[in-house]
Amino acid sequence: MKFADLGLSDELLKSVYDAGYDEPTPIQAQAIPSVLMMRDLIGIAQTGTGKTASFVLPMIDVLAHGRRRALMPRSLILEPTRELAAQVAENFEKYGKNHDLRMALLIGGVQMGDQVKALSDGVDVLIATPGRLMDLFERGKILLTGCELLVIDEADRMLDMGFIPDIESICSKLPTTRQTLLFSATMPPPIKKLADRFLSNPKYIEV
Ligand code: AMP
Repeated sequence: MKFADLGLSDELLKSVYDAGYDEPTPIQAQAIPSVLMMRDLIGIAQTGTGKTASFVLPMIDVLAHGRRRALMPRSLILEPTRELAAQVAENFEKYGKNHDLRMALLIGGVQMGDQVKALSDGVDVLIATPGRLMDLFERGKILLTGCELLVIDEADRMLDMGFIPDIESICSKLPTTRQTLLFSATMPPPIKKLADRFLSNPKYIEV
């Protein structure tokens, strides 16, 4: 399988080749066409398999085809830790360098001021930890009704860290007509239950 066969735009292929990648990893080869077709997805994959690019690349293409809406982010990536959120943000910047997409990184441990300003300027994608996202939402700083693409990354770590109630609460604030991608290294019963409740006819990929 080649990157050029996955349905990504030429601009994005350029970013991929600039990053030095020759071939998609197995999770990328399976996930990218499915995400581009707007399907829900469960990806059972560990860190190190290339799973970040498997959702960030098609997300950039999907977002590039729509239009930014002031005050209403169009997509949300949930990460269990600040470090993972920051890494995903770096990936987004690297692969999205040829696209005019705005991102806000919403993590704890830093002042809210810059995050609130980014939100009010208008962003396409939020990359967030559940705690800070809930905090900003409860302060009325975020509208989630325009988020039509949701990624729940490292779901089993979210479970270990006690974030499932926050995730359920966040999911219920998003539009019901949306695309949801869930990644996890394992599939314990509470994650299966979460997927059954919030994903619709997902493609299942295990690598
Ligand atoms: P991840 O599993 O998303 O944490 O990615 C692990 C590492 O693999 C990162 O350093 C990526 O830059 C790298 N990577 C992702 N996709 C590819 C690819 N198709 N070919 C080579 N390296 C890749």
